[in-house]
Amino acid sequence: MKYLLLFIVVIVGLMLHKKQRGASESLSRAQRDAQRLRAPEPMHACTRCGVHVPASRCVWDAQQRPYCCAEHARQG
Ligand SMILES: [Zn+2]
Repeated sequence: MKYLLLFIVVIVGLMLHKKQRGASESLSRAQRDAQRLRAPEPMHACTRCGVHVPASRCVWDAQQRPYCCAEHARQG
């Protein structure tokens, strides 16, 4: 009977430890998502058609003009 009580205490302790660790991991993931969402990315209008494109997806020509795609950059 003494060992059963000890076994239950150990199992409950492990469950609480695991639950606490999982909560702190999900909190840090939420903080990373919040930081990523907070950083705005500049938008540029395509020189050819005017569609707004995030700066990371723009195609730039030799004069550093932004385009929405390679086809519009080629057409100028
Ligand atoms: Zn375009």
